[in-house]
Amino acid sequence: MRVFKSVWQRYAPTSEIAWLLEQFRQMLNDCIRIGLAEDVTSLKSLSLTAYRQLSGYDVASYYKFCAISAATGILRNYRKAKRKNPHVREPYARRPRLTTCYGFKVRNGELSLPIRAREHLRIPLNQHVQATINGFAVRSVTLTEDRLSLAHSNEVQQLRPRGFIGIDRNLDNVTTATSDGSVKRFDLSEATRTKTTYQKVRSHLKRNDVRIRREISGKYGQKQRDKVKQILHHASKLIVEEAKAKQYGITMEKLTGIRKLYRRGNWQGRWYRGRMNSWSYAELQRQIEYKARWEGLPVIYVHPHGTSSRCSICGERMKPEENRTLRCPSCGYAVDRDVNAARNILVAGTLRFGVVGLASEAMVAEPASVRQSAKSMRGS
Ligand SMILES: [Zn+2]
Repeated sequence: MRVFKSVWQRYAPTSEIAWLLEQFRQMLNDCIRIGLAEDVTSLKSLSLTAYRQLSGYDVASYYKFCAISAATGILRNYRKAKRKNPHVREPYARRPRLTTCYGFKVRNGELSLPIRAREHLRIPLNQHVQATINGFAVRSVTLTEDRLSLAHSNEVQQLRPRGFIGIDRNLDNVTTATSDGSVKRFDLSEATRTKTTYQKVRSHLKRNDVRIRREISGKYGQKQRDKVKQILHHASKLIVEEAKAKQYGITMEKLTGIRKLYRRGNWQGRWYRGRMNSWSYAELQRQIEYKARWEGLPVIYVHPHGTSSRCSICGERMKPEENRTLRCPSCGYAVDRDVNAARNILVAGTLRFGVVGLASEAMVAEPASVRQSAKSMRGS
């Protein structure tokens, strides 16, 4: 199984790189415009229609194919969004961003990129990037105005897990429950505070000029996202380390939009929803998933229905009590609501993976609660 990871660094863009990025941005917008005008959806038909019209660009043909391929993805997402909301804005690339899987080379601590035929530019890679990609195949390069990122791949054997870690993400923490009965909580309140401060800053921007506003919020946004990412990296690293040590798979909730998040745990007030940021939920899952897959650990997504309200012992609907506790009217079990949710996610993932898929030791190590609720879920 081929798995991917990426690593990034800052770089000082030369005028040549800036030129290439701008050419790419314009080609991408040309392809988007052509795709919209001609109602073209597939990569093949967009290539046939758009490639000739990019002949005016004096860049290596690799980039023309990459622009067409990137435009296809953007158009596909746009059509999907438009089906849900007919008023969604037509796509247009404002920021320069180039991704290519062809033509580049990584050699002697440098990234070499073609510009035109037989013309290359070189960007030195820092120690961290060099050490990270050492021994792996670099599959693609992404450049923005001041960052470069390299996606590299590894061939791994997927592990037969001895059990699972169920992960429940909340506004202020992430809670895990494992097949061997342990429970952990990682504090993420700093990430939430970061987001809140950022939202305040943005709402206080008084300048009316849309372009200035966009740029300011863009720069702030990047900084805040970097900070939240760092906090999440800490948690995701520890979680995957535990999974690796125990040879456990990962199970998480499938999040298909912010509205699902609103609905879960409807005892939270409005202010809570306002502060909620779907981005950081998705980011944590993304980090855990790629780190786990890199180690050959299976990752399973389960439907979030009922995970926060169902009793993880008997499957009955629970009643909220004070201090984030839930009590089950049927079996009397009282538990922290995050722990209960993590256990439900664990059970759902374990069942989804299939009992036969687990190594036999997991059956012995499974706590009674998991066995019982697995039974009650099968029965219902
Ligand atoms: Zn119960």
